[in-house]
Amino acid sequence: MFADRVLSGMRPTGSLHLGHYHGVLKNWVTLQQQYECLFFVADWHALTTHYDSPELIEQHTWDMIIDWLAAGVDPAQATLFIQSKVPSHAELYLLLSMITPLGWLERVPTYKDQQEKLTEKDLSTYGFLGYPLLQSADILIYRANLVPVGEDQAPHLEFTREISRRFNHIFGKEPGFEEKAELAIKKLGSKKSRLYSELRNLYQEQGDEGALEEAKSLLDEQQNLNMGDRERLFGYLEGKSRVILAEPETLLTQASRMPGLDGQKMSKSYNNTISLREDADSIRKKIRTMPTDPARVRRSDPGDPAKCPVWSFHSVYSNDEVRSWVQQGCKSAGIGCLECKQPVIDSILAELAPISERAKMYEEDPALVRNIVADGCEKANKLAEETMRDVREVMGLNYS
Ligand code: SF4
Repeated sequence: MFADRVLSGMRPTGSLHLGHYHGVLKNWVTLQQQYECLFFVADWHALTTHYDSPELIEQHTWDMIIDWLAAGVDPAQATLFIQSKVPSHAELYLLLSMITPLGWLERVPTYKDQQEKLTEKDLSTYGFLGYPLLQSADILIYRANLVPVGEDQAPHLEFTREISRRFNHIFGKEPGFEEKAELAIKKLGSKKSRLYSELRNLYQEQGDEGALEEAKSLLDEQQNLNMGDRERLFGYLEGKSRVILAEPETLLTQASRMPGLDGQKMSKSYNNTISLREDADSIRKKIRTMPTDPARVRRSDPGDPAKCPVWSFHSVYSNDEVRSWVQQGCKSAGIGCLECKQPVIDSILAELAPISERAKMYEEDPALVRNIVADGCEKANKLAEETMRDVREVMGLNYS
């Protein structure tokens, strides 16, 4: 019912590495060409787990935004903003908390998982319990219908969908809803209003999903409806309440195949990363000293790429020709490990060269970065306000 809009955020973790680039940023760069995209720094989310170390948040935020820009996120195509600079995220979070059953929060799988994993932190806080709801507010406030998530994040999105349904169910019931919806149908013009009613009947009487989709597209095309009538007609298709908060859909993203230098997932906590702004000498050194198949003690010992972290890098960076050279050379001891690593070094350096160059430009011009983010925050505030007007109205908070 609303325009396609993508929302995605990252906690401010400071400078980013190849894992972020292959896992998230490349995807953002593609998405920004296809959809309206909003990308934000989730600084409040950082506080849900790191409330005791706030001193790094600001620096990490700016470093991360520079990396986004350097990686090709384009402020002319996407809106970049900081969560805490759009305070209505907190307002919606508070208002949604009024209708959120505690049990829903407690059963979000990551709640217990993280509490058990991060034992050095006291996460028995209200903020930590509520963070999936803050995520829901982040999404729902922009009526973002597309949210790129990996499979592990899918339960969070399902939670958001449940919250939006509950909200619409409770607050979408307005006095005289049916009469208002019938009046709104008339505004479609005689031909389209007949079609809308037929499709609605087909869906409601026969459960025809195709008819439902067709009716939704019909409404999408209507320019002459105001937001209230649009919400009513979308809600009227399926039930008897307005649709105020859009239910987001998952935009499933492929899990990154980018391994760390030791073969585990690339992560700062494993100390196995190559950062996007790392200098060339350091990258060469890190790859050259990467562990390999332990069977290759001497140059003349054959090995097996399946047992070697370097092979995972070839899987990301090398073409078929190079890969078969590695397979053959490794298994026959025809090539040495340093030789094998060289194409990986070359590919990473080639990939990072334009990123470093752009990063340098932004590092040298902090005012430019601040302006990009200020523009993004202004735009985000405007979009958020459109939703909040409706939310306040239906929750009885529309004071004149
Ligand atoms: S030749 Fe390549 S794949 Fe084989 S063990 Fe050495 S680095 Fe790993």
